[in-house]
Amino acid sequence: MPKVEASANPFETAKQQVDIVADLLGLEPGMRELLKHPKRELTVNFPVRMDDGSHRVFTGHRVQYNMARGPTKGGIRYHPQVSLDEVRALAAWMTWKCAVVNIPYGGAKGGVICDPKKMSKGELERLTRRYASEISLIIGPEVDIPAPDVYTDSQTMAWIMDTYSMQKGHSVPGVVTGKPISLGGSEGRGEATGRGCAYVVREAAKDAGVRVKGASVAVQGYGNAGSVAANVLHDEQGAMIVAASDTKGGVFKADGINPHALEEHKRKTGSVVGFPGTKPISNEELLEAKVDILVPAALENQITAKNAPKIQAKLIAEAANGPTLPEADTILFEKKAIVLPDILANAGGVTVSYFEWAQDIQGYFWTLNDVNQRLDRVMVQSYQDVHKVAQEHKVHNRTAAYVLAIQRVVDAVRLRGYYP
Ligand code: NAD
Repeated sequence: MPKVEASANPFETAKQQVDIVADLLGLEPGMRELLKHPKRELTVNFPVRMDDGSHRVFTGHRVQYNMARGPTKGGIRYHPQVSLDEVRALAAWMTWKCAVVNIPYGGAKGGVICDPKKMSKGELERLTRRYASEISLIIGPEVDIPAPDVYTDSQTMAWIMDTYSMQKGHSVPGVVTGKPISLGGSEGRGEATGRGCAYVVREAAKDAGVRVKGASVAVQGYGNAGSVAANVLHDEQGAMIVAASDTKGGVFKADGINPHALEEHKRKTGSVVGFPGTKPISNEELLEAKVDILVPAALENQITAKNAPKIQAKLIAEAANGPTLPEADTILFEKKAIVLPDILANAGGVTVSYFEWAQDIQGYFWTLNDVNQRLDRVMVQSYQDVHKVAQEHKVHNRTAAYVLAIQRVVDAVRLRGYYP
């Protein structure tokens, strides 16, 4: 992102990001204000019957940030630290992410303040159904389409789809994405984030002067996004995965690790640590390893002003959300490392969510091959669009991605005009 002051409040950060791009684009005060306000917010307090027979009241939010480009889209998170400002920020970022990949959506986000790790499956089902019922006032396939996020999954989406459908009196699969395939989910959705990330790497490598075939890759966070990116880079593009990590630590092998065998080892033992033939490496060492391509796929705030000068990768593809701090961005840009920002590099997930919704409303389902080919086209075009803006404005890719996204939203707002 363009340079912002670190703020404890993510929505303050999101608004500062808008201001920076608004300055670059010379936006008028009214447009700037509009882009810094969510269009619609709903807070709901609702009771849930717990397994012991008591009732507890939970609070949830749904924020629809901007719908100028289409229905809003964004996940639902279950977490004790959910706050309205966090949901607002995440909804703003979804707006920009959908605009970067040019899918016809605005952005939204939802959250319920709860500790899902301390709740039974029955309690989670009742919480989900009641929350879905409360927000059904403002969601729907033509309005706002939720998806999974932190501590929600395809089962959560199945409950929301069923609850909404019961209220309508018929099945409405297009009300959520990330559903099980048997209920209208899409082929390829589970892999889409990592796969999309690998496609963007392949395209950007041409501009970065990196030959992906034979290139060395380090993946921080060998989970869903990270392991799939590693598999695709290895199997389809001939890259060599030399390092990978998770919360327990990392592994390194200079002449390459088989990513599938590593995944299997992690499935069996719970970690990549101890994979035969590798040397242990810490998460910090992994980030600074001598590799061509680095894929941060774990958490936010991993690349800082302290470690950025020591990062040796020429290409950094942010599968994770927010892994790089603003001050580190500047250092990497000056070092001529190419950063593929999160709102581009991990947008494969929302792109295939869009495909899922398109299939649901047509009632016509695509093959895995169709999904992956269309994903490839979207990711390549999006990278090229971002790269062009970066060159025109002489800025790094993150700023370019925000400029492109916000300009697309601004264009839609201007064309539609101000009602009444
Ligand atoms: P995941 O839980 O499957 O994987 C996360 C991995 O990171 C795990 O292996 C975990 O052990 C590891 N990890 C956690 N903390 C770590 C640390 N401090 N150091 C090293 N490893 C650590 O989650 P995921 O779905 O792959 O998501 C990863 C990132 O990608 C998140 O930032 C998420 O927001 C982002 N993302 C995911 C999707 C998606 O569709 N899965 C879409 C967009 C963005």
